[in-house]
Formats: sequence, structure tokens, C-alpha cells
Amino acid sequence: MADTLTRPGLVDRLATIAGARHVVTDPAALAPHLAEGRGLFHGTALCAVAPGTTAEVAAVIALCHAEGVPVTPQGGNTGQCGGAVPMAPGGVVLRTDRLNRIRAVDPLDGTITVEAGCILADIQRAAAEAGAHFPLSLGAEGSCRIGGNLSTNAGGLNVLRYGMARDLTLGLEVVLPDGRVWNGLRALRKDNTGYALRQLFLGAEGTLGVITAAVLKLFPPPRPLITAMVALPDPEAAIALLRRLRGAAGDGLTAFELLPRIALDLGFRHMPGGVEPFARPHPWQVLLEGAGPGVPDAVQAALAQDMAGGGLADAVIAQSGAQAAALWRLREIAAGGHQYQEGAIIKHDIAVPVGRIPDMIRLGTAAALDELPGTRVVAFGHAGDGNLHFNLVQPPGMAPDAFRALTGAMNRRIHDIVTGLGGSISAEHGIGLLKIDELERCRDPLELDLMRRIKAAFDPAGLMNPGKILRPA
Ligand SMILES: Cc1cc2nc3c(=O)[nH]c(=O)nc-3n(C[C@H](O)[C@H](O)[C@H](O)COP(=O)(O)OP(=O)(O)OC[C@H]3O[C@@H](n4cnc5c(N)ncnc54)[C@H](O)[C@@H]3O)c2cc1C
Repeated sequence: MADTLTRPGLVDRLATIAGARHVVTDPAALAPHLAEGRGLFHGTALCAVAPGTTAEVAAVIALCHAEGVPVTPQGGNTGQCGGAVPMAPGGVVLRTDRLNRIRAVDPLDGTITVEAGCILADIQRAAAEAGAHFPLSLGAEGSCRIGGNLSTNAGGLNVLRYGMARDLTLGLEVVLPDGRVWNGLRALRKDNTGYALRQLFLGAEGTLGVITAAVLKLFPPPRPLITAMVALPDPEAAIALLRRLRGAAGDGLTAFELLPRIALDLGFRHMPGGVEPFARPHPWQVLLEGAGPGVPDAVQAALAQDMAGGGLADAVIAQSGAQAAALWRLREIAAGGHQYQEGAIIKHDIAVPVGRIPDMIRLGTAAALDELPGTRVVAFGHAGDGNLHFNLVQPPGMAPDAFRALTGAMNRRIHDIVTGLGGSISAEHGIGLLKIDELERCRDPLELDLMRRIKAAFDPAGLMNPGKILRPA
């Protein structure tokens, strides 16, 4: 109430810009926009507004800037670090869901121009309808929005070949923290005209402005395709296989996902639809995919060679689209939120040089067990990119809060190992609220100083998504 009193008429003025039915103040309707999926963070806001055009976004931001009102952009709210949770009292959540137009598809140039609120899966579909392929793909693609993907520099399943969101973006349109619109919607592959401003907004988690539209790269459809799951004795064998496949198929290898036994076992326990892929259980699995002329044959030959040499324990190659989907379903089962049904989880989204993945798993597991015997380590994910989701699941029967109380200590142990291996404490999810302390601890003070200066240059009033990535000065 005090917040509305200090900014009389703000909600009405927002309603004048976006339309009254696109401004939400009712507590029940506002609630989903104040928290994130895992329930780790609960925020506060005066209202949520959903502008329908770039001009409306600009007007909302200009008004908030003039009134000194903090703004938190929110896409699908599937982020894993609390970045879209509004924390400043009296602030506004700016939802992007009405910015949902595909503005243009240009198969010749290999580009698609989309508004920030487009759902990722809709963009994939629009590209496919035009005979092209948009390769950004992740578990939340049915609900995350491209503005959120770009603002977190999302990774996902195809980074090995196509890179992260940053690599897929040619141009951006951004509403700056004072309401001015920067039109950088260029569809150019070559453009050496000074600083690459768009790179600053990619991965900025809404702290430097609101992305309203983007020009994204399209690719030829991946054909022919091979999808396989292989069984391995240990992570060393997985990395040896990766080396062999890269040699055989080059960047025709599009996905290489590492899954430990425990991830499948927990998935089978809690999620329907999973079937053990092999005649007997194996300690490690890799789900891999390759695409392009000659790639399936090259991958099959490499797998046969590894099998003959004893590096592989078993392999299943999908013979149809349905079988490929069933293998990908196993990846989903292994990674799903079902791990929460086992109690509390302490998650890490880390990257190390690919060759150090076995060291990371060995050292990280030892550290977690040293901190608390009985901790269940579920280290899985995009191993081909050096990216692991290093989840620590509480021992059975322990009080979840007692396990959660170890979060700081576990984080420090795991992140120190990551840093020692030359890695990153956030591979693809970002910093948000979750990792501010660890960013400060693990990053070079000079880098932090440069980041603070960039933030101050773009947003001197500190109104764009305050409290995220960096503590307010
Ligand atoms: C099941 C599941 C699987 C996932 N798998 C992956 C994965 O493989 N790889 C991966 O990278 N992530 C993954 N994620 C995390 C999440 O989906 C991504 O971070 C995604 O990019 C977030 O998009 P969003 O639209 O939900 O963004 P939100 O959560 O709404 O926002 C994320 C951040 O971006 C900011 N933001 C949102 N829109 C804008 C905008 N238009 N302009 C400026 N800032 C904006 C927000 O303020 C916030 O800081 C997964 C999540 C789930 C639930």
C-alpha cells in the first residue's frame, strides 16, 4: 500500500499505455510472477504489465524511469537462478508474452526476425515451416521465451555444433533503461563497426535493458540423422568416445549428453514412460546425435570400432523417429525435476574444459561425500560442451532443511574445484539472485569492476532488474 501511495497514479498510467487488462495488480493473478518454479525465491512488485509493442515497452520503461520505479523483465519465468523474480518493493514486472510476432523469415539470408515474447518452440516450428532449422533446443522450450533465452545466453542440447544463444544472434532491438529504443536489428554476418553492443545485452539477465526483438540465424535441416545411446564403464570412456566421434564426424556431432546410472534410476522411480535401454544396467550412458551427409555412417563406424576395442559396453541406435524420441525421453527422465521428490537438492550448473570432466566428477564427488557422507551425486548433462549439472541430492531420510543448510559449504567446495580446473560456476543458467555471492568470490575483481562500470553506464539509476548478477553499488 505504501508503494502505491508514493507513486500515485502509476498503475493507471501503465494501463493507459498497455491497456487496463494487461496490467495485473490482483494478488492471486500477480503471485505467479513473483516467484520462480522451484520456489527458491519469492519477490514483490506493485504490478505486472504486458505491453504489446516495442513502442509500448518504451513508454512503460520511460514512465518507470521518470518515476524512479524498478523494472524486472520476465519471459517464460523458467530461469534457474531467480533472475526474473522482482525483488525491489514497489517495482514493476514487465512481461513479454504479448510481444509474440514472427516478424520475418528469410531462408535465403538464413534468418528469422522474432519478437522477444515468442515461445522458443514456436520459433523452431516457424523455421521448420520455412524449410529451415533453428537449433536452440532445451527442456523448457515449450514455455521459455526467446527474450529470456537471449538474456540468459541459453545453451541446451545442440551447443556442440551450433553454439549458444549468443552465437545464434545477429541483431537485437532493445529498449534501454531510460526508454530509448536501440534498433540494432541487423541481419548481417559481417559487421565490424565498433563495439559489438548486442553482445552486452546477450546474457545480461535484463540488467541493461529490455530485448524486444531479435534477428536469429537459421540453418539447413539436419539430415540425415543418427541418434544413439551407448553404455560405458566410466566418464573417461565417455570422453575417449567423444574424441573419437569428433575425429570421425567433425561438427556433424550435434549432441553428446552424459547420464549416470543414478539419474536414470531416480527418473524411473518417479517418472512414467521410461524403459531401461540395455539388457542390463550400466554405470554410465551417453545419448548422442549426429547429422549431415555421411555422418550416420561415420558415427556407426566409430561406435563399432569402440565396441570392438572394449571402450563401449553396449549401444542402441534408433531405427526410426519414434525410437529416437524414446531415447530423448530417457534424457528428459534422467534430468527431470523428479529429483526433488527425493528431498532437497543443491544444484550446480558448471563448465570445465571437456577433457577435465572425469576429474570434475571424481573430485566433486569426493568433496561432496567428505562434506556429508551419503550425499547422492547426480552429475549429468551436456558433456560435449564441458557442461555438467552437478546436482547433490540429500541422503535418504535426512531432513531437507538440514541438507539445504549445507548449500553454502557445498557450493564453495564444488566451485573451488571448478575454478581450479579452469572452469565456470555458471555454464548456461546465469547468475540471477542465486549465484551473486559465488560470482563475487570466484571472479577476478577486475572483471567485476568492469561489469559494474558497464552496468552504471547503461543504467546509472540502477532501475533495470536491480539486485541481479551484481549487488547494487
Ligand atoms: C526443464 C528445464 C530445462 C532447462 N534446460 C536448460 C538448458 O538445457 N539450457 C539452458 O540454458 N537453460 C535451461 N533451462 C533454464 C531456462 O529455461 C533458460 O534459462 C531460459 O533461457 C529462460 O527463458 P525464460 O523465457 O523462461 O526467461 P525468464 O526466466 O523469464 O528470465 C530469465 C532472465 O532473463 C531476463 N529476461 C527475460 N526476458 C527478457 C527480455 N525480453 N529482455 C531482457 N531481459 C529479459 C529476466 O529478467 C531474467 O533475468 C531449463 C529450465 C527448465 C525448467
